[in-house]
Amino acid sequence: MRGRSVSRVASIGSWLLVMGLVVGAAGQAGDGPPTLTAPEPIPAASSADEPGFPPIKISAEAQRIHFSGSLFDGHNDLPWTMRAEANSSFDKVDIAQPTKFHTDIPRLEAGGLKAQFWSVYVPSSSAVTGNSTVMTMEQIDIVDDMLRRYPEHFQRTGTAAEVRQAIADGKIASMMGIEGGHSIENQLGLIQRFYDRGVRYMTLTHSKNVDWADSATDEPRHQGLAEFGREVVGEMNRVGMLVDISHVSPATMHATLDTSAAPVIFSHSSARAICDHPRNVPDDVLRRMPENGGVVMVTFVSGFIAPTEQLKREPKARGTIFDVCDHIEHVIKVAGIDHVGIGGDYDGVTSLPHGLEDVSKYPAITQILLDRGYNEEQIHKVLGGNILRVMEAAEKVARDLQQPRS
Ligand SMILES: [Zn+2]
Repeated sequence: MRGRSVSRVASIGSWLLVMGLVVGAAGQAGDGPPTLTAPEPIPAASSADEPGFPPIKISAEAQRIHFSGSLFDGHNDLPWTMRAEANSSFDKVDIAQPTKFHTDIPRLEAGGLKAQFWSVYVPSSSAVTGNSTVMTMEQIDIVDDMLRRYPEHFQRTGTAAEVRQAIADGKIASMMGIEGGHSIENQLGLIQRFYDRGVRYMTLTHSKNVDWADSATDEPRHQGLAEFGREVVGEMNRVGMLVDISHVSPATMHATLDTSAAPVIFSHSSARAICDHPRNVPDDVLRRMPENGGVVMVTFVSGFIAPTEQLKREPKARGTIFDVCDHIEHVIKVAGIDHVGIGGDYDGVTSLPHGLEDVSKYPAITQILLDRGYNEEQIHKVLGGNILRVMEAAEKVARDLQQPRS
């Protein structure tokens, strides 16, 4: 969250008090929109403004490769930012105009975004107050409103084929992702209901454990998945909702890989070998991705991408776009070129790397990968080809599981 004024913090504070929410837990993991943190300095709007970090020049070749690909981002928290900063109203903040957020339509177009899982995150603390499901439905309403309001820019999609069609039509293919199993309030039937409203993945936990799965940033309780957690994964496979294991503990990652009939995703996680944060993916999990067929969508969150040694010296280091590309390359090295993607977490965090300040900056990733020797086919897999393949595979698993048994 950038540029928040003191008075706005106060007004969000009173809103949270009205809602009776426990404040503070949500922001601790460093991603997922914090609810009440001190305002941070506004990151520079452009890398060109940053001393010591010259702008990355995009060549004609990189431009062509980037814009002919299907850039598909796994996680963007604009819906929560709209709730927290704009009273959930596109009258209040019109994203067709430049905004002070990380995301708006002009910069999405400059960045060449073709498809997005919009996060319908609600804080783990809503589990305490018992309104997670209602709040998640409200976040879905915000995305619905956005799709209705800007039909020339966004297209609601539900399948990989529909995503491809929307891209061909020049629209940003739009689906939703739930961030945290608390959103279903321990009711399996809600998975289908959320799917019917456009949700295509659910992260099993956010920064706190749920009753049936452990978070990476909480005390381990289940050592993987409880029995009901395995039922949740089974129901998601049946419905055709991707199982997202960003935010979960390594034991829960392994248990999910043991359980899921469909490929899994990490919607926004990076490599633990480079940045030793519990939110990141350890190598022993990366090594299981080829067999599972899933994809690790590398995130840009500063605290998860800056190298371990640098963060020890400088805990607030922002890291750079080159660090993010190191994470992408590490996933390629350990899991393979077919198992990596992009999951920025724009508008969900306060600190982003130099060179990736907002959604207009994605083409620089293509430039760096090209400079590092990756070819067009490989870059297209990273940008979106892999996640589209995973969607297709999960759709097939769902069709098979929905076949009546003879
Ligand atoms: Zn998150």
